[in-house]
Amino acid sequence: MAMLQQRTIKTLTHAVGVGLHSGQRVELTLRPAQPDTGIVFRRVDLPEPVDMPVSAGAVVDTRMASTLGSGDARIHTVEHVMSACAGLGLDNLYIDVTAEEIPILDGSSASFVFLLQSAGIVLQNAPKRFLKVLKPVEVRQGEGDNLKWARLDPYHGFKLRFEIDFSHPAVDSTGQVYEFDLGSGNYTRDIARARTFGFTKDVEMLRANGLALGGGLDNAIVMDDYKVLNSDGLRYDDEFVKHKILDAMGDLYIVGHPLLAAYSAFRSGHGLNNLLLRALMEQQDAWELVTFEHERQAPQGFAQPSLAW
Ligand SMILES: [Zn+2]
Repeated sequence: MAMLQQRTIKTLTHAVGVGLHSGQRVELTLRPAQPDTGIVFRRVDLPEPVDMPVSAGAVVDTRMASTLGSGDARIHTVEHVMSACAGLGLDNLYIDVTAEEIPILDGSSASFVFLLQSAGIVLQNAPKRFLKVLKPVEVRQGEGDNLKWARLDPYHGFKLRFEIDFSHPAVDSTGQVYEFDLGSGNYTRDIARARTFGFTKDVEMLRANGLALGGGLDNAIVMDDYKVLNSDGLRYDDEFVKHKILDAMGDLYIVGHPLLAAYSAFRSGHGLNNLLLRALMEQQDAWELVTFEHERQAPQGFAQPSLAW
């Protein structure tokens, strides 16, 4: 039995798209990386390329999306490509961009999953490192109708339970709670296709603030006060809460290693997810890095994750 190994991709792969918020055209290149590199974002359009290795502390803004920063350089909306990396168990990757935002593509992580799988996923000769949660860590904000919280509990594996609370006719009629276990579930089938969503009433305000400039019906679920406006409807009955799980997987993977933990959240978002990671990092007796010398000791789903499309 072999150790559980790190993974990268076999060859580089490209995509071109627009940023959801900036509306800017951006070229994305995903490249293989050596063992123990981690996931490193890189602005290649600046006079000197700027690298941004992921870490809880590298997140400098969480309004509407998760933004990484280094010096004055920024890369916005990293959560969907990070979610794809988490779902596929990729440890090492360079993510090069020619502008300050990751392209939104179809608003889900399915296009990133497709790109990464097309490039081919390869095992590397180094043990995969997990961040094992040893004690519960919780963050809360607000009270009453404004209450939101997120927490991590010890778990031999990785699962997420998310509850949303939107009072909107199009959301009320769908599931508002979903639980996904990476061991028994199938990320590409059950989570990756869930798109980001927004309300037409918010669009004016967002655009006035220079946001959502690249957003539209081909990269988001858009709703008016009553219904979904996309002519093809929803991809999943519970697409809204599944997208929140997709986002949370991306936000949490920014910590730099796959978590061994049970995540649960009520109305959380990018900001609270990052606060949760920072609270975890600060409490040094609440986690440790572990490897598995034998695949059979690893949680189900990590040893033989489903790579089927
Ligand atoms: Zn999202």
